[in-house]
Amino acid sequence: METQWPEWMRINENLRALTPYGAPQIDVPNRLNTNENPYSLRPELQKAILESISTKVAHLNRYPDRDAIELRSKLASFINMKSGTSFATENIWAANGSNEILQSIALAFQGDALGFEPSYSMHPLICRAVGKKWISVPRKADFSIDVDSAIAAISTERPGLVFVTTPNNPTGGSTSLATIEKIANAARQVNALMVVDEAYAEFSTALSAVTLIQKAPNIIVSRTMSKAFAFAGARLGYMIANPAVVDAMLLIRLPYHLSDLTQAAASAALAHQESLLADVAKISASRDSLTMELQKLGFAVIPSDANFILFTGFKKEASEVWRSLVELGVLIRDVGIPNYLRITVGTESENRALIEAISKVS
Ligand SMILES: *Cc1c(COP(=O)(O)O)cnc(C)c1O
Repeated sequence: METQWPEWMRINENLRALTPYGAPQIDVPNRLNTNENPYSLRPELQKAILESISTKVAHLNRYPDRDAIELRSKLASFINMKSGTSFATENIWAANGSNEILQSIALAFQGDALGFEPSYSMHPLICRAVGKKWISVPRKADFSIDVDSAIAAISTERPGLVFVTTPNNPTGGSTSLATIEKIANAARQVNALMVVDEAYAEFSTALSAVTLIQKAPNIIVSRTMSKAFAFAGARLGYMIANPAVVDAMLLIRLPYHLSDLTQAAASAALAHQESLLADVAKISASRDSLTMELQKLGFAVIPSDANFILFTGFKKEASEVWRSLVELGVLIRDVGIPNYLRITVGTESENRALIEAISKVS
């Protein structure tokens, strides 16, 4: 239902039909609903971050490095190390979470936005909020992208931005590099940029789309430290792109958008990346055993390359199952796909609590 705004407040027309992003934040023992890393930072990493921040505290009277040069160079090294690429600071932009990255992209570039749904709900919300038309192209029944209909939609609709999330949230599967390249080429035919949202890339064994940027300069890869890096509370997202795209970010960013404390914390975290990413393999293994447990209970699970699982096969309405789980102290996510629910992979004990609860309620 549309909100009735007071007449004395001339809200932007773009916003009238929107509802705010709002994953429930309910205080229950097992919170498996927003795809965070369930493991807190290791003590030695906490110490390193505190030390890094403490060197900045005396200088908080001054604005931070507007261009976050040191942090961007560390992010470039991280990507190069993982993907065998040779990006430099000029290929990287960083912001307060990848949602800010996505918003900056939506603000900087012309045209409608097109995405393959179901996918990340913030893509249409951000695009509509800045006045773009959102074109939704349905995924196939197995939630993969149909390349032919993707290419056809891009050439008919001629959007300015094309979004692909891989691994896809909330469904979990990856889009192959070959498909991404085909979609990027179709986008280039109509001068569209292609945003590849890789928020969950570290949980996947697939090669990153950053490896395509040299061939396809219209690809922007969006990444975040919120998920695999266990850094959701710190708010650090970034993009890897052609330097011309990064130049456009300099126009749209607010001056000094990334606080000195955030830059220092993220730099320290990246310097300890093995410790930070240490739990990723453990989470991926838990995802696979959780998948098997759910299958044993008779549920159908969509194969996932991320730290969450979409599943179905309930004897009741999904919303009813969701509510019963909350009553048993387990919060998962109703992502709005009929008959499906999404679970974020938790710690071993959280996963056990989930399995116990779900076998009671459904
Ligand atoms: C979680 C998520 C993000 C953004 O998270 P930030 O915390 O803003 O970095 C972006 N894209 C997808 C697909 C996500 O699931």
